[in-house]
Amino acid sequence: MRATIIAVGSELLGSDRADTNSLFLADRLADHGVEVRRKVIVGDRIVDIEREVERAGAEASLVLVTGGLGPTQDDLTRAAVAGALGRALIRDPAIIEDIRRKFASFGRDMAPVNERQADVIEGAVVLENRRGTAPGLRVEEGETTFFLFPGVPDELHGLVDQALEPWLVEHAPGGGFERRVFKVACLAESDLEGLLQPFYSEFGNQGVSLLPSPGEVTVGLTTGGSVEERESWLEPRERLLEQLLDVYAFGRGDDALLEAVVGCLLVERGKTVATAESCTGGGVAERLTAVAGSSAYFLGAAVTYSNSLKVSLLGVPEQMIEDHGAVSAQVAEAMARGAREGLGADYGLAVTGIAGPGGGSPEKPVGTVHVALAGGGAADMIERRFQFPGDRARVRRLTTQWALDLLRRKLLGAAMSEYGLSAGADAQSRP
Ligand code: ATP
Repeated sequence: MRATIIAVGSELLGSDRADTNSLFLADRLADHGVEVRRKVIVGDRIVDIEREVERAGAEASLVLVTGGLGPTQDDLTRAAVAGALGRALIRDPAIIEDIRRKFASFGRDMAPVNERQADVIEGAVVLENRRGTAPGLRVEEGETTFFLFPGVPDELHGLVDQALEPWLVEHAPGGGFERRVFKVACLAESDLEGLLQPFYSEFGNQGVSLLPSPGEVTVGLTTGGSVEERESWLEPRERLLEQLLDVYAFGRGDDALLEAVVGCLLVERGKTVATAESCTGGGVAERLTAVAGSSAYFLGAAVTYSNSLKVSLLGVPEQMIEDHGAVSAQVAEAMARGAREGLGADYGLAVTGIAGPGGGSPEKPVGTVHVALAGGGAADMIERRFQFPGDRARVRRLTTQWALDLLRRKLLGAAMSEYGLSAGADAQSRP
C-alpha cells in the first residue's frame, strides 16, 4: 500500500512553523507497513491543493490530508478535495447543530462562519472530532481512500486514534517496517560514502539512509515485509556495515549518545576523567554529566577561560602561553596534564580554541581548536589540531564531539593515526 501525505497551510511554507503532523502520520503508517511515497506541503490556494490531491489520487492508494478544515476563508481543503474528485459539497444540518452544542458547552455562541465546517464532500464518511469543532472526513474514490484531518496536532492525534488506526488494522498490509541504526562520530559524510562503497557495490543503496548532524551521522537500514523477509534482508547488510564502519560507529539505535558510550567505557575500565576547558566553557563536562550515573567516572571540570586561570588552576607555564599562545598544542597538552594531575583523574581531557566570530588570525583562524588527552600512563598524551567550519555554536559543538570521541577511541585502544580517513597528525575538520 502506497501513501501520500499532504500538509495544507501557508504558515508551513515559512520559517517559523514546521510540519510535524506528517512525521506523526508517517510513524503511524510505518507501524502498519504502509510505505509513504510522497509528502507534500502546500499553501492555502485552492488550485494548488486541488492539483496535489489529483496527483496523490493517481499515484497512491491512501491519501492523508491535514489542515485547512477550519472555518475561515483560507481553510480550503474540503472544497479543494471535492473539486479534485468532481463531487459536491453538501452542508449537513446535524453537524451544524453539533458544532453549536460544542460552542454552547464553552458558554459561547457559534459564529455563522463556523457553518462552513459542516460542509461534507458528497459520499464521505464524517469522522467526529472530539477535541475540536471541525470533523474529519473519509472519502473513497476508485482504488484510493482519502482522509481529511484537522491541522491542530492534538485534534489530528485524536482522530488518527479514533478513525485511521482501525482503518489501517483492517486494510493495511501489516508486517511493519524495521529499522536498524548505526551512529557514526567524527567522519565527514563524503568520507563515510567512501567507506560504504563496498556496501553499495554489494547491495546498492535502497533502504539505506544517511542523516548528518554536526559531528555525527546516523546510518539507517530500513525494510518492510514479514518478519522472515525483514531478517533475511537486514542480516547480511547489518553484518557488512558493522565491518565497514568498525570503530567509527560509536553506538546502535537512534537514541545512542556519544557521551553515554564514553561513560560506559570508563565504567567498564574503572577509570575516571576530568576536563579542562576554554572555548567550550564547560560544554564537554555538561555533556558528560547529562548522563545519569556519571559521578562514577566524571570528577569535575576546570573552566579556564582566562590565561591567568590556566596558569593558577592548571599549572600551565605563563611563558608557554606567551611563546605559543593560549590556543596551541603546547597549552592544550599542559591543560590536559593539569586536569589529570591537578584534579586527580585517570584521564585529563582539554580543549582550547577560537570559537569566533572574533579572535582569529591568519595562522589561527576562527575554528582553530586543539584537543588534548592526557592519560593511560603519565607520559601518555594525544593532541590534535582541528579547523572547524561554521559559527560559534557549531565550533563549540564540534569541539565537544571530537573531544569525547578522542577519549572514546583512546578507551577502545583504536589506532589514533587512523583518526579521520586521511593520515597525519593535523587532522582536518570532519564536521
Ligand atoms: P481547526 O479547524 O481545528 O482550526 P484546521 O484544519 O483549520 O483546524 P489549520 O487552521 O490549518 O487547521 O491549523 C491549525 C493549527 O495547527 C495552526 O496553529 C497550525 O499552524 C497547526 N498546524 C496545521 N498544520 C500543521 C502541521 N502539518 N504540522 C504542525 N502543525 C500544524
